[in-house]
Amino acid sequence: MSAAGRFAARTVRVKAPGKVNVSLAVGPLRPDGYHSVASVYLAVSLYEEVAATSTAAPGISISLSPESTLDLDAVDIPLDSNNLAYKAAAIMADVSEHATGVHLEITKRVPVAGGMGGGSADAAATLLACDALWNSGLSREELAHLASELGADVPFSLLGGTAVGLGLGDELSPALAKAQTHWVLVVADYGLSTPEVYRTLDRLRGAEGIESGEPTGVDPRILAALRGGDAESLSRVLVNDLQRASIELSPALRDTLGIGESHGAIAGIVSGSGPTVALLADDSIAAEALAEDMQRYGHTALAVHGPVPGARIISDTLL
Ligand code: ATP
Repeated sequence: MSAAGRFAARTVRVKAPGKVNVSLAVGPLRPDGYHSVASVYLAVSLYEEVAATSTAAPGISISLSPESTLDLDAVDIPLDSNNLAYKAAAIMADVSEHATGVHLEITKRVPVAGGMGGGSADAAATLLACDALWNSGLSREELAHLASELGADVPFSLLGGTAVGLGLGDELSPALAKAQTHWVLVVADYGLSTPEVYRTLDRLRGAEGIESGEPTGVDPRILAALRGGDAESLSRVLVNDLQRASIELSPALRDTLGIGESHGAIAGIVSGSGPTVALLADDSIAAEALAEDMQRYGHTALAVHGPVPGARIISDTLL
């Protein structure tokens, strides 16, 4: 409360990046129902934004910003306690002595259920925004710990850059690769359920009698290529174990990859569990040209680059 006894609202605005898995090795189904992975994450220049405003009334509410670049009528995003941003605010309220009510306005740009960790980016942004709003004073390590409780991809959106993820993907080691690579994201107008893609991979492997081992690490050539920003070398080592399962569920992805590669992409990969396809380009000019070509084929295509930093406060305003 201010001296006049009136509630002084404050808005903290945070942006957090989506990701592409430059490599993703998936182990067998574990007894706990999860899969171990070994992945190289790259944070790319497509950002979610969360504006967290303190409210006099207790509780957490959510709205989607009209500034969103996604067609909000075409996507299914829960606005209740099932939203990952809601869960992030609730977990922060639990650990913050000075928590108030909060309204979260989310600007959606990362495709929903697209394999780029959009919901995870909202959660990472919300953790950081509420930490600032409520002066929680948590360290980056403490925030990363809370992030891993929310989902395997949340810690990476907080960290950003380039990182190796082991375990469920949340045991992160920053890879200190700063050189840029350029990509075109081909966004589908539908989503794929991540659990269903994993189940499909298990089924395909079971039918083939393939015993996959536990992934232990990532191919050092990937990190070397990323360190040097060497797109040509990187194009030879991109790998995603989930890709065949995503294509099994959505065969059109094979055509998207083929069109990309015949229009100048030096390689293409399904991002995470898909259906977003990430096409690697030689440089930013080639990426812009490729995005235009993909648009001519009726695709939604965006030229992006990475690595970019993780979740960051972009404004902090007393209203
Ligand atoms: P992941 O690979 O981490 O599963 P994704 O990018 O494939 O992520 P998301 O966009 O994070 O998928 O959303 C997956 C599902 O989660 C959606 O279908 C939606 O119902 C639900 N969801 C919960 N919170 C959010 C949010 N903040 N934004 C989008 N979807 C959300």
